[in-house]
Amino acid sequence: MSEKLKGNILVTGANRGIGLELVKQLAGDEAHIYACCRAPEGSGAEALRDLTTQYPGKISIIQLDTSDEDSISAAVQAVNKQIGAGGLNLLINNAAINKPGTPAPLSASGKKDMMEVYEINVVGPFLIAKMLLPLLQRAAEMDSTVKDEGDKMSCRRSAIINISSLAGSIKICPENFARAQMYPYRASKAALNMVTRCQSEDFKRHNILVTAIHPGWVRTDMGGQEAPLSTQDSVHGMLAIMSSLSNKDCGMLLDWEGNMIPW
Ligand code: NDP
Repeated sequence: MSEKLKGNILVTGANRGIGLELVKQLAGDEAHIYACCRAPEGSGAEALRDLTTQYPGKISIIQLDTSDEDSISAAVQAVNKQIGAGGLNLLINNAAINKPGTPAPLSASGKKDMMEVYEINVVGPFLIAKMLLPLLQRAAEMDSTVKDEGDKMSCRRSAIINISSLAGSIKICPENFARAQMYPYRASKAALNMVTRCQSEDFKRHNILVTAIHPGWVRTDMGGQEAPLSTQDSVHGMLAIMSSLSNKDCGMLLDWEGNMIPW
């Protein structure tokens, strides 16, 4: 049984679906959660606000719209002010959209959706990781017993988890394309996988682990009600996988049960 996650953890898209469940399950552990969402005061964040009452002092709600560079920058500043010497142990890039939805054939997808989905699902996570890098480095450096590049990486020490999708796998595409064409979404997750791979190469010199995880097909607004997995089971599985990740998993695409997915 792996050790539970702990330290300072930032989750994007934390007000509903998988993101909200991540906050719920992490709040019970020894972690402080920076729960980011685009409208903290809005009705869509009520469940997240309730969690802050249920777990006093464990959750900081931070405004963050992943499509807006100024909003990302302001969120990073707000986290920086609060976080202290320990730095950021884990960044979970979870927020994403799927436009124009499912099945979204070619005729339904145009430039607007392609650009918007790329901006939110790829550019956002890229910029968030870039701006949070000093805080992730700070956490990685806390363990002074490790010196070499790529030594003892883990989600407890310092890591980025990009929530990706099986739909972004180029190899598997022929098996599921007919069911859900989703050109913008598939292309965005394939690009996020490449960002993951690049960051894993880049950041291992700082001992920061970077891995992409597919949550399974989950019953959320995005996944739909016919999906087989509950948010509870998906998140329980992903957190168990995250807490077991080490050097060998850096730069990989895994599913919520730890199986490797081909690019
Ligand atoms: P939901 O649609 O249920 O939730 C999406 C979350 O992302 C919401 O909190 C939403 O906030 C947020 N979000 C969207 N756009 C932005 C933005 N510009 N800035 C900040 N937050 C934003 O999706 P899921 O919970 O199902 O998906 C979570 C992750 O899992 C995604 O990365 C998705 O691609 C991935 N995934 C999901 C699968 C599934 O079956 N559900 C399958 C494979 C992957 P708001 O309320 O403000 O819109």
